Amino acid sequence: MKKYLTCIICPMGCSLEIAGEQKEDLFEVSSVTGNNCRRGEEYAKKELTFPTRTLTTTIAVTGSSLKLVPVKTAGEIPKDMLLKAMEVIRRAKCKAPVKCGDVLLYDLLGTGVKVVACADAPAL
Ligand code: SF4
Repeated sequence: MKKYLTCIICPMGCSLEIAGEQKEDLFEVSSVTGNNCRRGEEYAKKELTFPTRTLTTTIAVTGSSLKLVPVKTAGEIPKDMLLKAMEVIRRAKCKAPVKCGDVLLYDLLGTGVKVVACADAPAL
């Protein structure tokens, strides 16, 4: 059985052809072709077994001229948790002043991943 993916690790966007076998919920990869470097093979294997993503979004901030502050997860979280994570972050609020790099949420959905500010939100 073959699967096809576009590698998203760098702007080259290599077209990957992945051969393997579907075993219940798991796709066992036997070979990856089309990748221009080793990272493409690692990406294909991870994407078909345990896909994860870094989440970038915004959190509401009070006490600042800014209404929202850009944030991102400090690590990757499972792809199937992204919508739930967005709900948690959408309900969250922080208070100014916020400094770039401040941790605004700890242990997002029990993943152990923090959500950090990517910009300053000075107090009024
Ligand atoms: S396989 Fe390597 S060169 Fe190709 S897109 Fe992925 S990271 Fe970039």
